[in-house]
Amino acid sequence: MVAASGEEKKREKLLALLKKVLALMDQGFYTNGKQALAKLADLHGDVEGVGDVARKRLESPMLRRRDIKLSRKKGRNGPSKNRLDIYFMGDGFLLPDQKQRHFDRNADAAQGIVSLQDFFKEYDKFINYWAVNLESNEEGVEKEGKSKDTALGTAIVDGRYMVRDRARIFSILDKWFPGEHDRQAVVIGNDYANIATGGGGTAAVCKTMLQATPHELGHAYGGLGDEYNKEPGGGAPNPYTGPFKIIAPNVIAGNDKAELLKNAPWKGWLDSVGTNNWSGKAIDVFEGANRQVKGYWRPQRVCCMKDSGSPFCVVCMEVMVRRLFEYVKPIDQVWPKETELTAEKKAVTFRVLVLKPKTHDVMVHWRLKTLARDSKSSDSGSQEREGPVKNVSGRLQVIDGYFVHYIKIRPEELAPGRYEISAQAWDPTPWVREEFRKELTAWQRWTLVVPESIGKAGAK
Ligand SMILES: [Zn+2]
Repeated sequence: MVAASGEEKKREKLLALLKKVLALMDQGFYTNGKQALAKLADLHGDVEGVGDVARKRLESPMLRRRDIKLSRKKGRNGPSKNRLDIYFMGDGFLLPDQKQRHFDRNADAAQGIVSLQDFFKEYDKFINYWAVNLESNEEGVEKEGKSKDTALGTAIVDGRYMVRDRARIFSILDKWFPGEHDRQAVVIGNDYANIATGGGGTAAVCKTMLQATPHELGHAYGGLGDEYNKEPGGGAPNPYTGPFKIIAPNVIAGNDKAELLKNAPWKGWLDSVGTNNWSGKAIDVFEGANRQVKGYWRPQRVCCMKDSGSPFCVVCMEVMVRRLFEYVKPIDQVWPKETELTAEKKAVTFRVLVLKPKTHDVMVHWRLKTLARDSKSSDSGSQEREGPVKNVSGRLQVIDGYFVHYIKIRPEELAPGRYEISAQAWDPTPWVREEFRKELTAWQRWTLVVPESIGKAGAK
């Protein structure tokens, strides 16, 4: 027993030491951190939770993950399970601390550019931004066939910077941040190239062209097509001459304007006028897209998918917002946590915390529905399963920038029975058409039982 407690003490000490070393890495001291990890793995390789953890870190290029908003003093990331998590990852950066600091600055700059873009700015509270420092064995990235040993194996081919192996990126995210990522990564390459690329959840942006990041996220995250009309880096024109074809939600191909208008994925936007067209600019089919002047068409003259510095067009914006609500629900937290409650004498407060878009509010509608009457207290009500629904006006409390909607229910004012209390929250943004509002809506429901001893006889 004495020996065991001695072992346990030693282990505790080592665990504390490991924690310190990892904290050192989190502060950006990778050279010292890795040396200390190597020592721990070497001397205490058999101590569970120490040697194995140190080895796992040493074998991986992952150095640290940083909450970009927090370190830039722009708020902080929220719980990943109800956020869109966007990761910035460095490729071609060596271990030394100063080398990694270049990546930190690039990641901060890229996030800053992204967060100025209208979609990302409006939904900032819905999005987490992480920077992941990675150690590459060689500096810079593979360029025009000259290979480099880097953490992610990205490459510049014909002037285009690209991710060649998405699985390699996602496996790092899965290994270190399971359940805390959405397979959305922007790789920042420590090199020079003129063309950034994106698609399928990853974007590749060299440090010299960070301003392209919002556009590349339009590809990577939104699945949007290019709306500009020139092949970057040159190339002969290749006009489209085939039958009507959908290239992306925002790009179509064809040569018969009537047919294009009839079949465009954005035909639902075509007649939008007044407040239904929040941009106030023409929505039509405009020739020039998919890096060609002829035969490819886009929905509006100006768009981020045409020029990274511009706002998204109405069609692209709707795609971006609808996609966001696949990851994030407008109700972020609820109280009480249990959904089946039995009332006591005191009032019960029901609360929902909703996420706040920057310039508008998420709407909340409270309802109180009678589910069934207690058969003992009312003969006539005993058969009733679904009773009347009452709208209840809620109140709003803003705590540290968080929007908490709540109602107070006084059980002694209700007839004994079962009730459903619900909060419906939705985003009324004009960026998404009414027919898709359901996707931007979340419900929270509680059941409240009011016992006979508490409820008010004869109340409705
Ligand atoms: Zn667009």
